[in-house]
This record gives sequence, C-alpha cells and structure tokens, in this order.
Amino acid sequence: MTEHAFKIVGLPGDGIGPEVYASACRILSVLQETHGLNFELEERLIGGAAVDATGVPLPPETIEACRQADAALLGAVGGPKWDGNPADKRPEKGLLQIRGEFNLFCNLRPIVTHPALHAFSPIRPDRLVGVDLMIVRELTGGSYFGKKWRDANQAEDVCRYTVREIERVTRAAGRIAQARSGRITLVDKANVLETSRLWREVAHRVIREEFPDVTIENMYVDAASMHLLTRPADFDVLLTENLFGDILSDEASMLCGSMGLLPSASLNGERFGLYEPVHGSAPDIAGKGIANPYAMLLSVAMMLRHSLDLPAEAGALELSIQACWSEGLLTRDLRPDGLGTEEVTEAVCARLRRETPALAGA
Ligand code: NAD
Repeated sequence: MTEHAFKIVGLPGDGIGPEVYASACRILSVLQETHGLNFELEERLIGGAAVDATGVPLPPETIEACRQADAALLGAVGGPKWDGNPADKRPEKGLLQIRGEFNLFCNLRPIVTHPALHAFSPIRPDRLVGVDLMIVRELTGGSYFGKKWRDANQAEDVCRYTVREIERVTRAAGRIAQARSGRITLVDKANVLETSRLWREVAHRVIREEFPDVTIENMYVDAASMHLLTRPADFDVLLTENLFGDILSDEASMLCGSMGLLPSASLNGERFGLYEPVHGSAPDIAGKGIANPYAMLLSVAMMLRHSLDLPAEAGALELSIQACWSEGLLTRDLRPDGLGTEEVTEAVCARLRRETPALAGA
C-alpha cells in the first residue's frame, strides 16, 4: 500500500444519503485493495442528522475536518422531518454553508449517455448517441448571492459578477476543456444583460491569453436550452453563470434517464472538492435498500480525478460502472425487476477487481 494517505471526509447526511454513502465506502475499500491506495475516511455530520445531534446543520467539527482533508464525499441532505425548521436549522443550509466556507465556486456536472440507458431518457435515442458534455457552472456568485430586498409592491435580486469571479471559473473550464476536446460554449444572455456582456469579454480574454489550444463560442441561454435537447452531442464544455447553470444542468440531466445516475463536483482553486450525487435524500425510498448508487459511485470517480489526482483509478471505476450498465445491472428506478443498492454496488466491486489485472498490465 502507498505511504501517502488521501484524507476524505465522509458526510452521509439524511434519507438515502447514508445508503449510497455506504456504497462509496465499499468501492473505496476495493480500490485500496486493488490499486494499493491508502484512504483515510473520517465521517462527520451534516444536514438533518447534524441538526438533530448538535442543533446546527454544519457543525464546526465538520468544517474543521474538511479543512484537513483533500476532499469531502456527501450523500444527500434534507427530508420532511426538518421541513418546518427555521431557515438556519434547515438541512439544506448546511450545504450552502459548506460551499461558502470552502469557496466552492466551480460546479461540474458531467452528462454522459450510454447505449444501455438510452431507452430510459424521454429524448429520442438517435439524439443521445455520443453525448458527453461537461457543464461548468459558477456556484458562488450572481443573483443567488446578490443583494435581495422586498417591500409590499416590489422585490429585487441583484445579479452581480466581478472580473475575478469570471476569470477563475473560466480558467477551471479552460483546464477541463484541454483535457477533453478543447471546445467551450459560453452560455449567456448578452443581448440583454450587462453581466453577460462582462462574462463574454472576460472569458474570451482568459481563453485567448491562457488557453490558446481551446476554442470558445457564444450561445444565448434560450437557444442553448433548445440545442441541449435537439443536438446534445454537439456540446463539449458548457460554461455558464449560476442561475443559467442551475436550470440547464437539470434540463440536461434528462438526457441520462434518472437522477440516480448523475454525479457532481464543487471545487475551489486549491483542489479541495465536495463530491455528491445530484439527487436529494429521496425520503420516499429511504431505508428500503433500493436507492440507485451509480450517481454516488460516479461522484467517487470525479473525486479520484479532480482532487486526488488518480485519473487511472477514476477511469477504471467508470469503466466498471459502464460494464455493469451494459449487463443491465440497474436499480428499480430504471427497471421494475431491478436490483437493490448493495447488489449493484457488489457488481461494480466485482468488475473493478476483475478489470484491475488487465489495467495494470496495459
Ligand atoms: P430527490 O432527488 O430526493 O427525489 C426525487 C425523486 O427521485 C424521488 O422519487 C426519489 O425517490 C427519486 N430518486 C432520487 N434519487 C434516487 C436514487 N439515487 N435512486 C432511486 N431513486 C432516486 O428530490 P426531492 O424529492 O425533491 O427532495 C427530497 C429532499 O432532498 C428534500 O428535503 C430536498 O430539499 C433534498 N435535496 C437535497 C439535495 C442534496 O442533498 N444535494 C438535492 C436536492 C434535494
């Protein structure tokens, strides 16, 4: 086993969070075995579980543990039990706080379709062939964080972006595009919005000056929302601001067929990242052992690649997952006779073990 220990904070959270988090732990233990890695996994509280135990959704011990770690792996937070809580004691507040505390300004959502899953998407299968796009969403600026006010007759949410905020997320998109096919589509509303015009100016300058091997084209958000459904395979890296990214990433998730298949990463400029499935705590199926663990396992792969610098291991895990899809090893959100969370997890583990000698010898 390697001397270097990768420090990971585990945040199981609520609902199906702990169930899919357990799948991630299984995979990490198999990766330790097959690839000689050393993961130090420390579990901490977040969300409703943290509110119940400590009175707050993000306790100081959780923040401190994350400060010492390379990455954090989150299950999901929330549930009806805490719906009536005041804003500062709601589980989702823990998530917003951790993003703010660690300056996680860059949200990545890969959207990759697989032939074995085409039938589960509402989009025509012929449009899904070859879809492999990465949405890079700015996560800590724009109208979600701008000044807000309201009186009896009006309300306002200020959308503000600084040059520095646009530069840093554009650099992240530039690095990602370099590792892919080198094409960025900047999505905005520059025909109407001043912030969009600033985005265009700054993003084009950063790419021109720092990423000469990357191309950047512009697309209005209304057109992008259409093209994502009519010709999704044409996108490579889609870079956009917070609100547009929120909406477009949920729209794009429909290309894959189930929320249970979509991973995400939220990164800062120092390689620390929060990795989590896109889905929530699914209270309707919690405790039944039927949650789809693939989104979580793909989030583990993203963590290996983006925070731990283990691209070969990330690739091996992704290949094992895809092999299981090809064999029809799916959970009940996708097929009525589907497998349980543990069965799917064990199938991926078995694949990973089987594939490893071939990879090592390659
Ligand atoms: P949800 O994603 O939890 O569930 C929506 C639907 O998808 C449900 O029918 C659920 O059973 C299904 N589903 C989701 N993940 C699945 C999986 N892995 N396997 C199989 N089926 C899956 O969204 P919701 O119902 O709107 O929210 C439930 C709670 O989760 C709320 O409290 C919400 O605030 C919270 N939430 C948390 C996060 C997060 O932790 N990042 C994200 C979204 C929602």
